[in-house]
Amino acid sequence: MIKVLVINSGSSSIKYQLFNMDGGTVLASGAVERIGEAQSLHRHRVHSDSGITESRHEQAVADHREGLSCIGTLLRESGAVTELSELFAIGHRVVHGGESFREPTLINAAVLQQVRDMIPLAPLHNPANVMGIEVALQQAPDIPQVAVFDTAFHQSLPPHAWRYALPDRLYTEQRIRRYGFHGTSHAYVAKQAAILLGKPLASLNLVTLHLGNGASAAAIAQGRSVDTSMGMTPLEGLIMGTRCGDLDPAIHFYLGRTTGMDNDAIESMLNKESGLKGICGANDMREVHRLADAGDAQARLALDMYCYRIKKYIGAYYAVLGRLDAVVFTGGIGENDIWMRAQCCSGLETLGITLDAQKNASTGNEAFDIHDAASPVSLLVIPTNEELEIALQTVGCIRNTEH
Ligand code: ADP
Repeated sequence: MIKVLVINSGSSSIKYQLFNMDGGTVLASGAVERIGEAQSLHRHRVHSDSGITESRHEQAVADHREGLSCIGTLLRESGAVTELSELFAIGHRVVHGGESFREPTLINAAVLQQVRDMIPLAPLHNPANVMGIEVALQQAPDIPQVAVFDTAFHQSLPPHAWRYALPDRLYTEQRIRRYGFHGTSHAYVAKQAAILLGKPLASLNLVTLHLGNGASAAAIAQGRSVDTSMGMTPLEGLIMGTRCGDLDPAIHFYLGRTTGMDNDAIESMLNKESGLKGICGANDMREVHRLADAGDAQARLALDMYCYRIKKYIGAYYAVLGRLDAVVFTGGIGENDIWMRAQCCSGLETLGITLDAQKNASTGNEAFDIHDAASPVSLLVIPTNEELEIALQTVGCIRNTEH
């Protein structure tokens, strides 16, 4: 059995999934959260044919090193592995790969240093990713480890899509450009869309909408990303749970002048206090709906703004692609929010986008289509699976390296 452990290391958490790659099934999964606090919580799930059993462990976990130790212990105790050394590989999610990483990459000292060098580009994410890699290398030094980058899928953007209209030296000297994120998810659902449509991915033009706590759109031409809504950082583009998305950059200076807020305060506000939360006080889409249904005008406005922004991107990316085969909804909101999907598609019938209300109302764990039988553009709901995609890319990377 080929076993691959996928690690997603955040600043105070480590999430993980252990896959059996002969079939892509999950053997175990879980998360160690609140690392560094007095009491950490480790939830560990064992997956089997008869279902999923979860155990919860509250204990002090001082740092990521201890966190990964706890994960190793529970993987062994629950029988998911006998020893970590039996793993085929470990795949790490890394948020920012800059321009250096277009592909998943086998980690060695030089690669790790390059990921460290990327920290100024992604100060909120890459330090924790680096920490996860460092402790995994220490605890499983003989297991091949692969970095899978959120930015890699979007390295195919043409320069006219990734350049900002700023002085040239900001790109040449400081690498300021659009990188795009959620690439693993966009890549995964694009592949699944090709399977669902029964056509080769290389023949398809798609708009993929990843709508979770973070949210981004991608324009995919013949299977390759040609534009995406997130930019140099994940702040640009769609409205998100707590991030503002597209914004007039002059607001930043205006705020500095009129309120005396410094850069850190403005950055924190745009990332953590804006988006749905900024408009109506709630960042969880289910709560926004609850408030709107109860008559809260701000929540209603938040929903309208959220869908309006998505609709603008669908239109813009349709123009970019010229021909559109399908729009794909994914992420917690894209997969579950029936009202929002209908709202984003309404009025787009002249573009060949026609929703079937009855199909849209269905739910499930599998991918399904929600377009009218006569709609020239397909509308698809596809559950994302970034962890499985990381595991698949990890195996692919090692096989390529071996050849
Ligand atoms: P993350 O980006 O952290 O992985 P998810 O992809 O799980 O997050 O998406 C979380 C979002 O999905 C939340 O805003 C949550 O309210 C929303 N969501 C989950 N279920 C539903 C639902 N049934 N209807 C509307 N929104 C939902």
